[in-house]
Amino acid sequence: MLDAHVTSYSGYMSARSTVPMVSREGTRFSVATGAVCLQLIYTGGAGLRSKWETLHNPADFADWVIAAGLVEAKKGLVVTDAEFESVWILREALWESANSCIDGVPLARSAVGTLNRLAAQPDVAPRLSRNGSVSVHGPVAGSQVLSTIARDAIALFGGPLADRLKRCAADDCAILFVDTSRPGGRRWCAMSRCGNRDKVRNRRRLEKADAGR
Ligand SMILES: [Zn+2]
Repeated sequence: MLDAHVTSYSGYMSARSTVPMVSREGTRFSVATGAVCLQLIYTGGAGLRSKWETLHNPADFADWVIAAGLVEAKKGLVVTDAEFESVWILREALWESANSCIDGVPLARSAVGTLNRLAAQPDVAPRLSRNGSVSVHGPVAGSQVLSTIARDAIALFGGPLADRLKRCAADDCAILFVDTSRPGGRRWCAMSRCGNRDKVRNRRRLEKADAGR
């Protein structure tokens, strides 16, 4: 059975599986991303994605890591300026690689190099308590979080779910996700957003066709 999370790397963390979003029109919706690494893509990026930029400094990234459930706030997380620069580089590598997978072309050499370089560092370590619960071993360095995300990405792009990477079927939506549904028929970033807009468009088309008769 396909799990909501792709890898064992994030398995011991309570990483959230959906990301809350707000559309240009102000509609609130949430996207089931299917992979922790893809959640970083949703924070902004280069080019057109810069409109949605939410990571302006190391503290923004630390806040995102905690909101994403990768590290509990109380464990302590320190992100240096150099690590923050790597966050932007990693995000572009994730964006490029995910799109390459979806388009069925080989991954860019530079993107693969970035993922491998970051994954080679120690990742966020698990910590077992006597009652059997597992948490994160803190304090955590930014490089560990980068490694965890890069390892998640390697498991995604190099694993069985690479074929389940998809782009939302709406023409004007670039949201990417992993379809973890059993039948694999998911088309939309969110039913409450692009799925509904498609329904409304179809209804209008039918009404127009009726009126034209
Ligand atoms: Zn969409």
